[in-house]
Amino acid sequence: MRGIGPQSAEKLAARGLARLRDLWLWLPREYEDRTRLTPVAALQPGVAAQVEGRILATETAFRFRPMLKVAMADESRGTLTLRFFHFRGQQANAFRAGARLRAYGTPRPGQLGLEMVHPSYRVLGDEDAALDEALAPVYPAIEGIGPQTLRKLVERALGALPGDDALELLPCEWLAEQGLPTLRDAVLTLHQPPTDVDMGLLQAGRHPAQRRLALEEMLAHHLSLRRQRISLQAHAATPLPAKGKAVAQLLAALPFQLTEAQSRVFDEVQRDLARPMPMLRLVQGDVGAGKTVVAALAALRAIDAGRQAALMAPTELLAEQHANTLRGWLEPLGIRIAWLAGRVTGKAREAVLGEVASGAAQMVIGTHALMQQGVDFKDLALAIIDEQHRFGVQQRLALRDKGGVDGNVPHQLVMTATPIPRTLAMAAYADLDVSVIDQLPPGRTPVQTVAISAERRPQLIDRIRAAIAEGRQAYWVCTLIEEQEDGATRIEAQAAQTTFETLRDAMPDIRIGLVHGRMKPKEKQAAMAAFKAGELDLLVATTVIEVGVDVPNASLMIIENAERLGLAQLHQLRGRVGRGSAESSCVLLYQAPLGAIARERLDTLRQTNDGFVIAEKDLQLRGPGELLGTRQTGLAEFRIADLSRDADLLPRVQSMADALLADSPELADRIIERWVGGAARYASA
Ligand code: ADP
Ligand code: MG
Repeated sequence: MRGIGPQSAEKLAARGLARLRDLWLWLPREYEDRTRLTPVAALQPGVAAQVEGRILATETAFRFRPMLKVAMADESRGTLTLRFFHFRGQQANAFRAGARLRAYGTPRPGQLGLEMVHPSYRVLGDEDAALDEALAPVYPAIEGIGPQTLRKLVERALGALPGDDALELLPCEWLAEQGLPTLRDAVLTLHQPPTDVDMGLLQAGRHPAQRRLALEEMLAHHLSLRRQRISLQAHAATPLPAKGKAVAQLLAALPFQLTEAQSRVFDEVQRDLARPMPMLRLVQGDVGAGKTVVAALAALRAIDAGRQAALMAPTELLAEQHANTLRGWLEPLGIRIAWLAGRVTGKAREAVLGEVASGAAQMVIGTHALMQQGVDFKDLALAIIDEQHRFGVQQRLALRDKGGVDGNVPHQLVMTATPIPRTLAMAAYADLDVSVIDQLPPGRTPVQTVAISAERRPQLIDRIRAAIAEGRQAYWVCTLIEEQEDGATRIEAQAAQTTFETLRDAMPDIRIGLVHGRMKPKEKQAAMAAFKAGELDLLVATTVIEVGVDVPNASLMIIENAERLGLAQLHQLRGRVGRGSAESSCVLLYQAPLGAIARERLDTLRQTNDGFVIAEKDLQLRGPGELLGTRQTGLAEFRIADLSRDADLLPRVQSMADALLADSPELADRIIERWVGGAARYASA
């Protein structure tokens, strides 16, 4: 496009704007109505408006910081103050008393009636200035590109928008049936809405033009997942018939019986594994539902068939715990397990890689390190991925590429404790079959949850002592911020260190341990092992213990700054207790005062232990992007659709996808290419 130099191009590309069509879909975040004037007396606080009047007086002050105040009035006899904190002298001089002024902004109550802070404005001459003819779009800002320039760029891009015959990909019968505009009409309406557009609908994101784009976008993502599934299942996989004895041996050796739900889900898995095409199955189950043993049994099917299985977990702590659990179960059966994490380096790494490549290691457990270059399996028949919500589709595909012999691809078993509402699961896991372990092992008592203000923290000492006196153990979780950037990990670690010291001073007779993300893996491991072995009574930890940590004897969980965490994370953390038969409790410490949403979150947790109820609530409070995590499939990358708002379109999306894949797969490909891009990604899958 003319007028875009290399520097601007780079800035645009940084926001994903590389092609004309990206600009077509760069939709306004809001609209300014400069088509009319509002009498000053009719202004309402909080409602943006355009006014025109005469300047009464101006005043500049530099006492605390520079400030320019301009008082204006119009024939409605209302007065309005414009207030500027950044201005140049020249600008101040232009506000001569008596001059005519037009301003656009959002009035707020000020000291002397309504005022607008930093409105956009024009000092008018004596001739009349025309009003705009259409609503002015306001685009999401792009660093280094001024709003005017951006507006012009989009306008020019729209000038090149092809006609319906070239642009439209959805059959026009469908559109007509559903009362939706064509893509071209929808795009034009949203960039340049007619003055009589229903602003209410538009602001709520429910205008037919928006619904139309959301529908196509959701369709594209759904199709892309279905495509991946289709192309993956076109490959052969090694069928793993039920023949060896290891499965039966493990079942006999376990200290418990599988729950009905576990048996049912394992049956579903077995049926998939017996087929000559790759299994693509997601096992959902609330925290503590017992997914690990199902994974172990599935792995045994591969091992029984003389092949390899791999288990990948998102954190080293969790992977390590899986390694310990599975060693306990499988090594007595004579099965060789290899451990691979990023920190396994040098000679040790070479040795592990050797075992993996030769097939000496029948089961390989680790972190992302499993997917790296240089990790070659002899014959990987099953890839198990735990806590799927932490990985993206890409990473799953990478493990697949570690495939077995003869171009066979491994079966995939994906496990997640993040319960996802049904509608959302349909969209997020369109490429997977879903099994649900919807039952907890017997004898669990629901965790009692209380929320108390941080001021009452000293009372917790008694609670901790009481739990320990009963022979139980407790967690104290220090949390600060949700994102685990480097800085957050460090601050969290400091907080944990301080809490650790305070608690140690308060209870010198209690055995207290510490685990945080900044400790050496050896130290972390040692503290976890000691806690698990009952050699520590209280474990002060950061959110590194969030997923999967399993110490059934722990019966008390204290979570600091609970008001800052999302529901899903709190539920995960709380899931660390209540894993044995003891009455367990969870204390949510919060900093008063609580905001409305935080209060609702804590109330939800107090009222229910059901992960699905909590997930529905989470979806309501936060929206799906956060619920699923930004690393989730394509979901978090929606430009226009919003799953909590547009969830009602999902059934339609599904049936359209069915029809397209059956009747016009080439159209499906073009829809994917338009919205998701990189068609090659799955074409080679
Ligand atoms: P999650 O589904 O959260 O991964 P785990 O697999 O860690 O749950 O299981 C939680 C705990 O329950 C473990 O200590 C596990 O040994 C135990 N467990 C699993 N299945 C059963 C069962 N059928 N009966 C009793 N305990 C079980
Ligand atoms: Mg688990």
